[in-house]
Amino acid sequence: MNGFLCNRFNLIACTGRFSDIAVAMGENIEGLSFRAAADVAIDAIKVLSADVGIPSGLKELGVKERDLHVMAQNAMKDACSFTNPRTATLEDVMDIYRKALNNEGEAAAFSSTPSQKQEGENNFTENNYKCTNDNRSKKAKGASEVPKILRVNMTAKELKWEDVPEKYLALGGRALTSQMVLDEVPATCEALGGFNKLVIAPGLLSGTNAPSSGRLSVGGKSPLTGGIKEANAGGITSQKLANLGIKAMVLEGLPAGNDWYMIKINSEGAELIPANDLAGKGTYETTAICRQRYGEKVAVITIGPAGEMLMASAGVTNNDSDGNSSRYAGRGGLGAVMGSKKIKAIVVDCPKTFDAPVKDPERFKAAAKKFSKILLDHPVCGQGLPSYGTNVLMNIINEAGALPTRNFSRGRFDGANDVSGEKLAEVAKERGGKATHACHPGCIMRCSNVYPMPDGKVCAPIEYETAWCFGPNLEINDLDVVAKLNYICNDVGLDTIEAGCTLGVLAEAGVIPFGDGEAAIKALEEVEKGTSLGRIIGSGSTVAGKAFGVTRIPAVKGQGIPAYDPRSCKGNGVTYATTPMGADHTAGYAVTANILKVGGHVDPTKSEGQVELSRNLQVATAAVDATGLCLFVAFAVLDNPEGVPTIVEMINAQYGTELTPDDVVALGQQILKVEREFNKKAGFTKADDRLPEFFTTEEFEPHNTKFDIKDEELDEVFNF
Ligand code: SF4
Repeated sequence: MNGFLCNRFNLIACTGRFSDIAVAMGENIEGLSFRAAADVAIDAIKVLSADVGIPSGLKELGVKERDLHVMAQNAMKDACSFTNPRTATLEDVMDIYRKALNNEGEAAAFSSTPSQKQEGENNFTENNYKCTNDNRSKKAKGASEVPKILRVNMTAKELKWEDVPEKYLALGGRALTSQMVLDEVPATCEALGGFNKLVIAPGLLSGTNAPSSGRLSVGGKSPLTGGIKEANAGGITSQKLANLGIKAMVLEGLPAGNDWYMIKINSEGAELIPANDLAGKGTYETTAICRQRYGEKVAVITIGPAGEMLMASAGVTNNDSDGNSSRYAGRGGLGAVMGSKKIKAIVVDCPKTFDAPVKDPERFKAAAKKFSKILLDHPVCGQGLPSYGTNVLMNIINEAGALPTRNFSRGRFDGANDVSGEKLAEVAKERGGKATHACHPGCIMRCSNVYPMPDGKVCAPIEYETAWCFGPNLEINDLDVVAKLNYICNDVGLDTIEAGCTLGVLAEAGVIPFGDGEAAIKALEEVEKGTSLGRIIGSGSTVAGKAFGVTRIPAVKGQGIPAYDPRSCKGNGVTYATTPMGADHTAGYAVTANILKVGGHVDPTKSEGQVELSRNLQVATAAVDATGLCLFVAFAVLDNPEGVPTIVEMINAQYGTELTPDDVVALGQQILKVEREFNKKAGFTKADDRLPEFFTTEEFEPHNTKFDIKDEELDEVFNF
């Protein structure tokens, strides 16, 4: 009897699912709205309950009025209450029990007639699960004046627009995803379970014409590290979300059953659409299908088969302007989190790119122009990156003796030049590709590239870290093999760095030989097939190391170490050890001062000054990741005292704030505190802020260095 009272209570939160139940119970709902079909389902459940002899009231079970409070309290503690489609208060539950006691049956007060619909609740239509913009604020220049949060509950298949709480208004990008993850995700939850959430947010400056400001933050609890994760991607999605006035999207809950869905968002609203036809497809095909259906200009966030199979190193990708689905929020397995929620793709349709609301357009324009000049005048941002992309680093890091070769066994690789940015530019031009390319409109550093492969397909881009992990790390000096491995990862939906580290571990174990490109390709192809080896590879370097008894596993907090050896670039070593993200070069890129001599110089082989360097960079990076600016602006910003004030000026002009550079530092510190708080709640301790043992015991050629920064010093990184 409580069943249909509860059903009545839940009805407004998951009308679509009740209509599914009606169909499953053999009812004819043809021509009915979701709401009417849901009523049919509840009637059918009532009949079924009577048929199988379920009592019609609590009195029949001997329950007394005085028992209700305890029963309601117990109900609130019951695990089912957490997955209930509609959040119930103690009073709600008491009310249900009272009605059940008094045999009020379904004539309950929890009616969900449209007239009682609250603002922000769904407007469902016949076909899909929809959430229109009827309740949204007025729009200006294509974007909502008042930003909203789009919440998609996959348990209830409910889409809802929410006002942005006051505390989130000044946050964007990583600042927002990390804060929301801390606030909404229980730190000890199962990363692939119903309590984890995937939060997707554009940066504060995204959607404006601030140069290189279209970065997207994707956050959640990482199935790879078990800690908090923000993975950051280029591509065209961030600008479109910002121009639709979407501050963040939150994907939560888990749907019952094995069906796949996609979300479509445009200026009319958001819609959850069945997508079983996309299941099992690679990201390239998925993106192509979505662009064919919804227009060439749409942004498509998607996962590949690795994410569908819930592999811990699966990434979330989105496309560039050319439609290449290769701009990855790759690290930490957030593709598996999206897969756990059965979301195959998110299509964002917005014709605007640079029209996010700006409070003071003239002030903003002047600041953006100044910032462009700061970038273009810098040798790395204005010349190095636009000429050869990030892979210009291959020869530089090799020369510095910090290029991890043969699974972090030595620091130089004879074949480095064969997989370098210079070589890539040469081959790409010969084959009609592009040595330089912007991953989103408005990027003036254009570090990306388009590499045509011998089979006629295109790999875009090949980043330095990817060229390293499939090149020197495996002792492979063939750019076409590197491109093929990169392409496979992009298509199956795997983080390239994790995949490369994992193949290095497999080579260390003797599963594949070092230097054998074909063997590496064959192994990686196992991922899509979902074989045992494929699943081990998709689970990342730490799992692979354990599976094959390898002790030299280059990973911190379960995440593979990227392309700069921590013994010859010790500032990066400090970052790898201590960042809340697990080993991540972008979290505090000490290559700047260690090797490139940008923002000063700290000897990369010595321990002195590395903790302070990493600390300052981690704080600055966290703040940059909140703005939506590409991290590569840091090269210019670190060298030019006008850099940070100009970023602050753009933010102030856009939001009408009066922030100072000190506020930006405070924001970076706050983000790190939030992330560390989550990890602490998840069970992380100081012992997790350490490098693998072999970095402290094995000497690294050519400088014969070990990682010798003491544990006590590492524990000082977040001393602010
Ligand atoms: S510099 Fe490169 S990664 Fe950064 S936004 Fe531009 S093209 Fe994308």
